[in-house]
Amino acid sequence: MNTTYRDIFKWGDKREQPVDKGTLDVIKEKFGFTDDDFSQKYITGEEQVALSKPVGINQNLLDKLIAIVGAGNVKTDDYARASHAYGKFYAELVKLRMGEIPSPPDAVVFPKSADEVTQIVSLCNEHGIALTPFGGHSSVTRGVETPNGGISLDLTKHLNKIIEVNSVNATVTVEAGMFGPAFENYLNSIGFTCGHFPQSFEYSTVGGWFAAKGAGQASTGYGKIEHMVLAVKVVTPAGVIETKCYPASAQGWDIHQIFAGSEGTLGVITEITMKVRRYTPQNTQYASFIFKNFESAVSAMRMVMQSGVGLPHLFRISDPEETEIAFKTKGFDDTLADRFLRVMGYKSGSRCLMFMAVDGSKGYAKQVKKSVKAICRKHGSFYTGAKPTLKWLDQRYSSAYLRDPLMDLGIMTDTLETAVMWDNLVNVWSSVRNYLKSRPKTVVMVHISHVYENGANLYFTFLSPMEKGNELNDYAEYHKGLVDTINASGGSLSHHHGVGRSLAPWMQQHLGVNSLGLMQAIKNYLDPKSIMNPGGTLGLK
Ligand SMILES: Cc1cc2nc3c(=O)[nH]c(=O)nc-3n(C[C@H](O)[C@H](O)[C@H](O)COP(=O)(O)OP(=O)(O)OC[C@H]3O[C@@H](n4cnc5c(N)ncnc54)[C@H](O)[C@@H]3O)c2cc1C
Repeated sequence: MNTTYRDIFKWGDKREQPVDKGTLDVIKEKFGFTDDDFSQKYITGEEQVALSKPVGINQNLLDKLIAIVGAGNVKTDDYARASHAYGKFYAELVKLRMGEIPSPPDAVVFPKSADEVTQIVSLCNEHGIALTPFGGHSSVTRGVETPNGGISLDLTKHLNKIIEVNSVNATVTVEAGMFGPAFENYLNSIGFTCGHFPQSFEYSTVGGWFAAKGAGQASTGYGKIEHMVLAVKVVTPAGVIETKCYPASAQGWDIHQIFAGSEGTLGVITEITMKVRRYTPQNTQYASFIFKNFESAVSAMRMVMQSGVGLPHLFRISDPEETEIAFKTKGFDDTLADRFLRVMGYKSGSRCLMFMAVDGSKGYAKQVKKSVKAICRKHGSFYTGAKPTLKWLDQRYSSAYLRDPLMDLGIMTDTLETAVMWDNLVNVWSSVRNYLKSRPKTVVMVHISHVYENGANLYFTFLSPMEKGNELNDYAEYHKGLVDTINASGGSLSHHHGVGRSLAPWMQQHLGVNSLGLMQAIKNYLDPKSIMNPGGTLGLK
């Protein structure tokens, strides 16, 4: 039975994952750790959960909630409240390890239908109770925190079913609390795929994907989630909004798009209608390349996107440091193949890996791969075959499990991402890297993983020994400098993680007073008492 803080913060299925030898060797080399350091675990959060803040909702209101959803679907025990207090933002994980939960929700409620959600929203609105939608809680932006207490509305227990498939239109209507694997497995069984595979796929929900405006690993071909969603049903304090399904329309604004990236601040998304694509894994073509440097890899990638040769679905570049670490941890360093590549001029410290996979009909997939190969060859790449991409796909969700054991070793492990236009990509990459590297003993791995005709994202992963005893302040300062650097160099605040509360302080400066004012006006209309995910999410009041 789950009872400890560790049970709450651990990623995924909670199994204890050892750090592989390749990674331990890199940690020794980069941080000067010894075997002795590996034998000690740091702030592991193995204590029993105990909250100091009592339930702040009176029994009369709890009884009303119970009357709506049933007694088993309203929880006020410490573990339920604590396990709905945080997502997966780095500082949240540190706080859980320390047993710090100053603002848990007062109650966790599990609705069974959109009708029950409507009654709950109405009740909370009447009494001015904060209401925070809760999906897989994989938010890495402090999106599910409850600074004003109130109710955490967990959609995953009951609102997790397929409502309708329309195979003529190639659409599926699904309840918002359905997790990725159940959704995709069902679609595969009827010959379709959802095409959305965030690294958090196993433990995130369709509603959370749309609410946080995410991107899956195959977004270059399938699009971001907002490009896939055609219609929504949302329960707002002002009433229910149910948009109709069209391939496109010109009847004013696309209202469903207002809820893409709304992060629970406007209402509870209960249903989503999405495009689905034919599932033809037998046709998928895979390729990988190695380039002499980051600039030539980026240039080849841009040419692929702008040449009209078709779109890879998965399209990634690892920068030199990420490539170096991948080679080291996978035991490729100093092999015969490695020595051959070095002799050919693909030197460690500047070479970069590119992965590509393309779905579709057999002919299309082959044609795209052939064209990508030709473009990459022109940019001085060496073709390294399908295997590295297949290997990467095989472990595509597993690196998420590494974060907890690395934090056990006292290592700060976090990521941040941004979107940039092509003409500023290398500048943002080097400015942000320089900032991150200004911290001594920091490993900085960068990749591009969501690619467009006009630009791409940059995804920064950084690892550095924690400042023990000052973990939270140290991180807050470093994180602030990082976001400031991204902002100053012209990157977006986020490409796919959303804003939450962690990036909210930069919203006004980044968007401008009028744009944020427009968002606030929409919130004021739909949620005049500001009960929906209140406390600064998205920079809103
Ligand atoms: C290891 C790891 C890897 C990740 N990789 C990716 C990635 O590759 N791509 C990517 O896009 N993101 C990624 N993320 C971030 C996160 O998984 C996404 O933001 C995801 O879309 C959140 O879904 P969720 O169901 O967990 O939502 P939650 O974390 O539960 O909620 C996220 C936000 O949406 C709101 N919300 C949730 N459900 C609803 C609803 N039904 N109605 C209204 N509001 C709602 C919440 O209030 C909150 O503000 C990653 C996170 C982790 C921890």
